[in-house]
Amino acid sequence: MPPFFIPIAAFIVWALAVFSYFSVLKFGLYLADPLVAAQFFISGLILVFAWAFSGAVTAVILSLLSALIALYLGLGAKEPALFLQMFLYGALFLFVVSYLQRIQKSVNDKKILKENLLERIDLAEQDLLAKRSKKKALEAKISRLLDLQRFSEELKELSEVSKLANRTVQEVSELLGVAHECVLYLVDESKEALVFAAASGYADESLIFSKGSIYDQWVMKKSQGLVIEDARNDYRFHADLRPGAAVRRSICASPLLSENRVLGVVRLSAAGPGAFHADDLRLLDIFAGLAAVNLRNILLYQKMQELAVRDSLTGLYVNRFFYEQLTAEIQKSGFSKSLFSVILLDVDFFKRTNDEYGHVVGDIVLKNVAAIISESAGSHGLVARYGGEEFAVLLPGRGKKEAMQVAEKMRARIEIAKFSLRRSESRVTASLGVASFPGEGRTREEILWKADQYLYAAKHSGRNRVCGST
Ligand code: GH3
Ligand code: MG
Ligand code: MG
Repeated sequence: MPPFFIPIAAFIVWALAVFSYFSVLKFGLYLADPLVAAQFFISGLILVFAWAFSGAVTAVILSLLSALIALYLGLGAKEPALFLQMFLYGALFLFVVSYLQRIQKSVNDKKILKENLLERIDLAEQDLLAKRSKKKALEAKISRLLDLQRFSEELKELSEVSKLANRTVQEVSELLGVAHECVLYLVDESKEALVFAAASGYADESLIFSKGSIYDQWVMKKSQGLVIEDARNDYRFHADLRPGAAVRRSICASPLLSENRVLGVVRLSAAGPGAFHADDLRLLDIFAGLAAVNLRNILLYQKMQELAVRDSLTGLYVNRFFYEQLTAEIQKSGFSKSLFSVILLDVDFFKRTNDEYGHVVGDIVLKNVAAIISESAGSHGLVARYGGEEFAVLLPGRGKKEAMQVAEKMRARIEIAKFSLRRSESRVTASLGVASFPGEGRTREEILWKADQYLYAAKHSGRNRVCGST
């Protein structure tokens, strides 16, 4: 029972006692003795407190006891009216008790209902919060997937390695915005080393010449991602903490893995500690994997294109490519008024070499002659296998005099070279014709015809010589 019912009930009992003492009821029932009225009042109070503290059952039992005492007193005083009066008050008391109990029950019910409702509201709020966070996580996932899809579509459009590297670096540093710098290295398979490809952020120029940090090397060698929350506390690496050294305490790096081959390494670094966690590495791995697949496609395509224009025996360009480049050079010279020269080279008496040593040796000789020509032509010269044992060289920017010198160098180097296979050793010589643009021809055919004429002259004047005039 709520505490405030106690004074209410006490007041009701008190009111009944006073009322019964001072009034004469219509039925002629009254309290004969103020002592009996007081007893009634006190017993009523006891009942109320008993009910309040021990519950309704105790109160009812006490009420019955009180009625029995009243009966005894009534009989003893030979006042049956007193008993009736007590009985009436007892009934009234019970009514009040039951009424208060009903109120209490309804209050309790309401309280329970309220508590239930509050609990349900609480649960609903928790559910809502959980759903909201799930929705947020889902939205973040969707947005990442969309990023990934967009990135993938963009990469497919790219056909150059440098563009792919730049795009990857840009995307990755936007994605994990905390990065201080983002660097991408590619694996140079011939040297088994890393070569700088792209960077963003505060990356300095020294990166261009670097072969990657200790972290990049580690990722390349282990073919696995790396996340370092604080380089100062990572026992695997000796962080460069010298004064003035670019301090990068947080590292997150992934290999560009395609078909179990590391094609490159992308690394994010931040100056402070704790910038990256395992989740960031997982995301970086996905983007690096996507970049790797596209990088592999670009490399394959480039290789295919390269193979299509390369001769299988000598590795030199095929004559079709030579014609195309010659045409392009003529067109270019139309705007820039630049000059160029063409050398045609034919190995002397090569049929004899074949006859004497066999075709296999002949092939080796051709391969070595091709290498000598390439070396002598320099990095700007374009060398092609023109026919069986004939070679053509395009020397952009070189006039007649310079081209003659280059041709002479080739001839002399071929003359002194010894080509050996098993125990046999062979030597060959070559004849060369040199023609220059625009003096000796303004079209592709004219230039080649002229060079061929000079070659013919070299052959007919004794071979093993360079001819640039008739
Ligand atoms: P010269 O040019 O000095 O007049 O005499 P040559 O013997 O070189 O001239 P010719 O054109 O008669 O013979 C060229 C020979 O080159 C014929 C062929 O057997 C050989 N030859 C052409 N292509 C290849 C090749 O790919 N491998 C080998 N081993 N020989 C080749
Ligand atoms: Mg020939
Ligand atoms: Mg020949």
